[in-house]
Amino acid sequence: MARINENYLKLPGSYLFAEIARRVNRFKTENPSADIIRLGIGDVTRPLVPAVIKGMEAAVAEMGQESTFRGYGPEQGYDFLIQTIIANDFAARGVTIGEDEVFVSDGSKSDVGNIQEIFSDKAKIAITDPVYPVYLDTNVMAGRTGALGEDGRFAGITYLVCNAENNFCPALPESPVDVIYLCVPNNPTGTTLSRSELKKWVDYARETEAVILFDAAYEAYITEADVPHSIYEIEGAKEVAIEFRSFSKTAGFTGTRCAYTVVPKTVMGRTEAGEKVPLNQLWNRRHTTKFNGVPYIIQRGAQAAYSPEGKQQIREVVDYYMNNAKVIREGLLSMGLTVFGGVNAPYIWLKTPAGLDSWGLFDKLLTEVNIVGTPGAGFGPAGEGYFRLTAFGNAERTIEAVERMKTQLKL
Ligand code: PLP
Repeated sequence: MARINENYLKLPGSYLFAEIARRVNRFKTENPSADIIRLGIGDVTRPLVPAVIKGMEAAVAEMGQESTFRGYGPEQGYDFLIQTIIANDFAARGVTIGEDEVFVSDGSKSDVGNIQEIFSDKAKIAITDPVYPVYLDTNVMAGRTGALGEDGRFAGITYLVCNAENNFCPALPESPVDVIYLCVPNNPTGTTLSRSELKKWVDYARETEAVILFDAAYEAYITEADVPHSIYEIEGAKEVAIEFRSFSKTAGFTGTRCAYTVVPKTVMGRTEAGEKVPLNQLWNRRHTTKFNGVPYIIQRGAQAAYSPEGKQQIREVVDYYMNNAKVIREGLLSMGLTVFGGVNAPYIWLKTPAGLDSWGLFDKLLTEVNIVGTPGAGFGPAGEGYFRLTAFGNAERTIEAVERMKTQLKL
């Protein structure tokens, strides 16, 4: 019998969403007429904008003609999309990025999950707590974490706690690490780091020769001027940071699939013997060996998201979600709850009221007002005592959910 990668057995089951589904299904069976509103999903609900559809339709027509048909494309992405990305997302912010530093992919989940392959299995990893689970789970699979302790933490991981006490701005690691995952604006907390807070991390990474893996999947939701859209807006970041961007939450591509990763040629790692190696070289090798490019039609759709009409239409969609965020945030604040996020991100992170833990609030919302959210404890031990609501739903249903909470929830 083939021997397996036993690291997989260290992963706790997909407890969070399975348990949410179990509780919702049981409630629905017992209360078939209940009108449940889901504010738990991290998926978008608005359709693709017309400019993107137009870009894709033109590409579909090209694929049907011998003279314009495309087979395999460059694994790193077509020049037309890479150049559009650089011009709009970086040059427009005064950041210089080379065309061979951008890698187009089928999603940030793949990229943030796969990037760990280019680091040593001995690399020390720091992640925030609570966290988007992919960063942790992929390092568990790779065998970098040791076993799961009774406190819900892996012995080999450096956890960077983010909570109300530190204003969701984690303290620097106490001992050196090789790799630091940061997600700004953050999922699940909806909070951000200011320019000066992020600079502290970049300076730290430069001093200790660590690499920052910067997940900016929610960049489009930033509304405040002091929140950087790219880590490369911070001086020195091109020496130490890899940035992940996605069209999922920006242009509604969660089902369409397109993202990109920036690996500046100046970001270095080292061999055991101390030889410096550019991470760009390793990621290029990994990407071209294991990935065969995003479909031409999809890349044309992504390019169209940057056209003047595309930008305008996408802005309206982001504003739609952010209006939901405002409705939720203000509604909860008016109830006297302590609320974070929802200003630069489509996530609202609330403190559970006294006497209720994360799952306690989940059950109360489900049974008293038929609303489904996500218990903070599912994102890591430091998420206990918090709860996540998302702004990706329908506007009318979001208003109704908030009204129900304001008028019917017994806190
Ligand atoms: N990074 C974060 C922080 C996310 O929340 C998500 C999706 O929810 C992703 C990455 C995945 O994005 P993609 O759809 O590009 O795979």
